[in-house]
Amino acid sequence: MSCSKKFLCLVWGALTRFIYGVGGFNPIVLPISPLIQIVIMERVERLNQHLSDNPVAGVRVGGDLDEIKRRIRSWNEYLHKIVPSRLQRMDIDRPSKEWDNNQFDILVVGFGAAGASAALEAADSGMKVLLVDRFDGGGSTRRSGGVYYAGGGTTAQKDLGIQDTPENMFDYIKQENGGVVDDRTIRDFCFQSPENFRWLENRVGIPFKNQQGERILFETKTSYPPSNVTLYQSGNESAHPYSKNTIPVPRGNRAFGEYLTGNIFFGGFEKSVEDHPNITVKHHCMANKLIMQDENTCTGVSLISLPDWEDLRSIHVMLHEIGSGSPMFDTERTMDLLCKSHEQVMFNKFGITHEIKAPVVLACGGFYFNKEMVEKYAPKYNGLMPLGNLGDDGTGHTMAAEANIALDCMDRCSAWKFINPPLSMVEGVLTNSEGERVGNEDVYGASFADFLVQHHSGKGWLVIDKTIWHEANSDCTNPESGLQQDQQMQGLANLHRNCKQGNSVQELALATGMDVSCLEKTIDKYNHNISLKNDVEFGKDSKFFHRKIEHGPFFAINLNMAGNKYWPTPCMSLGGVKVDGKTGQALSSVNEKVVNGLYAAGRCATGIASNYYVSGFSLADCVFSGRRAGKHASNLKLDH
Ligand SMILES: Cc1cc2nc3c(=O)[nH]c(=O)nc-3n(C[C@H](O)[C@H](O)[C@H](O)COP(=O)(O)OP(=O)(O)OC[C@H]3O[C@@H](n4cnc5c(N)ncnc54)[C@H](O)[C@@H]3O)c2cc1C
Repeated sequence: MSCSKKFLCLVWGALTRFIYGVGGFNPIVLPISPLIQIVIMERVERLNQHLSDNPVAGVRVGGDLDEIKRRIRSWNEYLHKIVPSRLQRMDIDRPSKEWDNNQFDILVVGFGAAGASAALEAADSGMKVLLVDRFDGGGSTRRSGGVYYAGGGTTAQKDLGIQDTPENMFDYIKQENGGVVDDRTIRDFCFQSPENFRWLENRVGIPFKNQQGERILFETKTSYPPSNVTLYQSGNESAHPYSKNTIPVPRGNRAFGEYLTGNIFFGGFEKSVEDHPNITVKHHCMANKLIMQDENTCTGVSLISLPDWEDLRSIHVMLHEIGSGSPMFDTERTMDLLCKSHEQVMFNKFGITHEIKAPVVLACGGFYFNKEMVEKYAPKYNGLMPLGNLGDDGTGHTMAAEANIALDCMDRCSAWKFINPPLSMVEGVLTNSEGERVGNEDVYGASFADFLVQHHSGKGWLVIDKTIWHEANSDCTNPESGLQQDQQMQGLANLHRNCKQGNSVQELALATGMDVSCLEKTIDKYNHNISLKNDVEFGKDSKFFHRKIEHGPFFAINLNMAGNKYWPTPCMSLGGVKVDGKTGQALSSVNEKVVNGLYAAGRCATGIASNYYVSGFSLADCVFSGRRAGKHASNLKLDH
């Protein structure tokens, strides 16, 4: 098959997966892939040009334009006409099913990885738990890659003959965490890691082995491994400067299944929670206010639930799906905002309010879907593509702030630019917009992106030469390369569309707007250091530092974070409620003392993943912090 045909097949495969899943109005959960977005956006742009009678020349993928046109029209029609008219027609006086206001020992707000971990931990200690979720549960956890960071001597590591210790894990995580939580908490995280992993496998039932009961290790550096893999090195362990202080080992445990396996990871939680006699789950139930007795005592939460009407709840689920998925191509964000405003109408018009008096665990996810909060708290990351789900709009953070609970690390986000795979791209040169080399190219994609966001206004280039270009291109077109389909698509989009080209370094500088002498100096210095076999500038691993950038034509891949139509940057928030590291109790912003009766966990809280995220950190922190909160709240209750 020719190269361009393969490209079209890949594009079409991904499109159909996206279109027929979400666009078909099946409330099924799809992984939100940034890579699919590339293609969608290109198509949507074409569509717009097409619609305004200004067709452009270029690739046409047979039939998909019409399909997209139809689907986007359907979404728009659904949001603009069908939802308002169906809501209008619903009878307000219809009797709603009474809510059984049982006495609960613990209330958990948010049914993602953090909330489910807290609920299971408490319920297993004999507590009666109420677990509420604004939508139908799963949140961003269900949409994730299903990579869970665990080490320090897990059964998976032992089965594969990998030596690791909690101390070694601590030495690495301390570097990523940058002191946003105290050393004791990081130590707890590392020492508990083998047990938490066992708990996930044995108690929660998440498969970290293939169907034959085997663990499969992937040894190549990657941002996400092939679907047959269960363990790989998912972070910066072997990259400079991290590798100076730790022995690199694989700790990225991938729930086994096809491609992004957050649905499998969450599936284990869903089943364990549903089967638990001590847990009552209420979907379509949103917490909106903490009930405070004083600044250091929380006594419960005020909730609002939608009645148990199938038609109403199915609209709600659909709004969640469209709202979570549409930012992939709707850069103006009109669709997700409209979904939110319909949701508000639904809660205002039909909602039933409840007050639950019990210790509360806030586990409502992040805030990147809330534009105003991003502008206010994390302006450097403004304008990127929200990664997660519509529920990541910071309701937990807002409730906490209104109750004078301290928030922390609110300016920290994780923006993703995965240049690898294809692996050869790591051999390129990362520059700022002037052409100066700015960092080690072999770090994890989110760390890489953070250099640019924090220090270079989110702008940069990856400079490669013809040799690297051909190698990368062949990885992206070879079905045997082990790359996931979306990784191949993104690679192709970068190599064919998202780049500038020049026959000489000088020409490349002119084509990109980089400073000619600056880029020439950068490449000369880089090549000189390669002759010395030592990256004295940034310490790139010698595996990726042995080929000079010398064979024209030269290419520069556009790394701009915002407004990059071929490579939008997915982003999630990392900051949240400040908690006590030992117990998970929230801290008051008035006096920095613990607030009795209030806990926070997962992306709604500050934790292990709140400074930098590498693959698996967030889910691991959710489990650690969720269990910590569930355990402490249960122990207090039992003591009384
Ligand atoms: C495509 C993608 C891939 C990812 N891959 C990985 C990975 O491989 N490994 C990793 O570690 N991380 C990954 N992440 C990040 C990770 O998924 C999230 O950070 C993590 O799942 C957050 O879990 P949580 O429990 O804090 O929140 P969530 O899983 O989002 O759960 C929060 C729940 O709270 C509910 N909620 C919100 N507000 C309210 C309210 N007011 N009242 C009641 N309920 C409310 C929401 O409906 C939601 O169900 C990925 C994310 C995405 C989107």
